[in-house]
Amino acid sequence: MKTETIKRKKSRRIYIGEVPIGDGAPIVVQSMTNTPTGDVGATLDQIRCLAQAGCDVARVAVPDDEAARAFVEIREQSPIPVIADIHFDYRLAIKTIHAGAHGVRINPGNIGGTDRFAAVIEAAKEAGICIRVGVNAGSLEKSLLETFGSPTPEAMVQSALTYTAFMENRGFHNYKVSLKSSDVLATVAAYREFSRVSDAPLHVGVTEAGPLVQGTVKSALGIGLLLYEGIGDTIRVSLSTSPVQEVRAAYAILRTLRLRERGVEIISCPTCGRCGIDLFSAVERVEEMLSTITSPLKVAVMGCVVNGPGEAREADVGVAGGQGQGVLFKKGKLVRKLREEEIVEVLVAEVRNMASS
Ligand code: SF4
Repeated sequence: MKTETIKRKKSRRIYIGEVPIGDGAPIVVQSMTNTPTGDVGATLDQIRCLAQAGCDVARVAVPDDEAARAFVEIREQSPIPVIADIHFDYRLAIKTIHAGAHGVRINPGNIGGTDRFAAVIEAAKEAGICIRVGVNAGSLEKSLLETFGSPTPEAMVQSALTYTAFMENRGFHNYKVSLKSSDVLATVAAYREFSRVSDAPLHVGVTEAGPLVQGTVKSALGIGLLLYEGIGDTIRVSLSTSPVQEVRAAYAILRTLRLRERGVEIISCPTCGRCGIDLFSAVERVEEMLSTITSPLKVAVMGCVVNGPGEAREADVGVAGGQGQGVLFKKGKLVRKLREEEIVEVLVAEVRNMASS
């Protein structure tokens, strides 16, 4: 039986800076800074960390004039394209567009009316940048809530379609859309329906997903289900923790679905009574020490001879543990025995060598 490959749904191509989105381009990983935007140094430091982790595009909140002023310098010095995230005040959107934002994210429902939405569209059109229309279940228009009774997927789709028609009527096609809810099934239903009736590139995510474990599970399910159906051109995993973790989780999702590979995949066992080495601390150290490797390599760290040699042999580099020791495999071949205390160093050195060659 052949392993399935995902057939991606056709969408229109747009660009954020030089980064292509849609129409078969690699799925773009986004994250958002959580430093005060006015603190230019801290925000740029975080963007650099995100870029190093593989983030393609960073989003920065612009809640006031101070942030809009800081945005100019952030945008100039950022190693990756920067999107300005705007709520409530359309003038901030226009300011950041004039300051060279690579894109803006707005929720037209809270920007203060259609005239203001139109003004943002005109500014983006003139600057040649894209707008993300971010429909969010938590901030749907009152009229839709009255019609649908609650922020249902249908209400979210209706909201998005109204906004996209508004942009299209103004000859503006340089946009992508998101339809996020903190409810995974509602999110999936909304994206599914919207992608049926529109070829706009989609920014996919589950909003306010929660802390690391819960948020990763919710995002992996929500984003994963959609990607599996070929829906989604750019993703953001949203977590109540460091945004660098969001990027790591995003790549884990993409790698699992074989949509995009980057960095080291670690195969490790949960351990049991047969394990004769301190596997958890070894895995933690290996993961941290290899976090800057960008080559897509498979590394196995296994507890004993039951499944250890099999997994280690299948990996690019692997260790199968024994009692206070382990054996090293490289590209399927058993290379040498290791004492427990040298396992991490030797394994990491082998992976780094492989990555650099
Ligand atoms: Fe237990 Fe060995 Fe399996 Fe790890 S590989 S879970 S130690 S049997």
